[in-house]
Amino acid sequence: MIKISEIFGPTIQGEGALVGQPTIFVRTGGCDYRCSWCDTLHAVDSEYRDTWKPKSANDIMTEIKKLSDNRPLLISLSGGNPAIQPLDELIDLGHAEGYSFAMETQGSIAKDWFSKLDHLVLSPKPPSSGEDTDWEALDKCIKAAGENAEISLKIVIRDEKDYMYARNVAQKHPDLPMYLQPCNTTPPINEDDTVDFEDINTRTQWIIERAAQDYWFDVKILPQIHVMIWGNKRGV
Ligand code: SF4
Repeated sequence: MIKISEIFGPTIQGEGALVGQPTIFVRTGGCDYRCSWCDTLHAVDSEYRDTWKPKSANDIMTEIKKLSDNRPLLISLSGGNPAIQPLDELIDLGHAEGYSFAMETQGSIAKDWFSKLDHLVLSPKPPSSGEDTDWEALDKCIKAAGENAEISLKIVIRDEKDYMYARNVAQKHPDLPMYLQPCNTTPPINEDDTVDFEDINTRTQWIIERAAQDYWFDVKILPQIHVMIWGNKRGV
């Protein structure tokens, strides 16, 4: 069984390499990290554990097909850390119906079934998260995805230390496309909590200027589009 925090869509992917793409989100419950600015605490904190429902791959697929009117589109496996969950059967079932799969994980846990994904978004967490990166585990995730999945890196940037961390990751993995994303410093505790859009805009401008200063041009810089459109609202 797979612990599910929420399934929603169709909406658009709001960040990273697949931004703008029509997507159904499958958010699993549970995470091995506790990032200081986590924006999905409802899928992380044990306080919400009772809301995570165990579901079979078949039941999840039925829900996805209903939401998408049986039209195969992109399914984004998110969390929490979806790598904790047994998702290989769901990927097989979805592929058999023509759906494609992207997964976002911090890269702390590698699973053989990553090779079944169409897209793997690795989002190692920078110093401002308060978490340490297990570089060996990150490498294992890249190896596990192999040649089949399109792999990209996405790093949240709050400050100069985070920026330098991203530079370091880019140097370690020059072949992988990298996306930088300004930190939402007012992540939701409740979905009614307001977003500091001015802060996000200022931080985005700073990252763009900072990368230009370094002549770092093989990187893409994008705010979270869903946050700019819907703020902290859930399920969109
Ligand atoms: S890894 Fe992601 S889901 Fe887990 S605590 Fe950090 S930001 Fe939240």
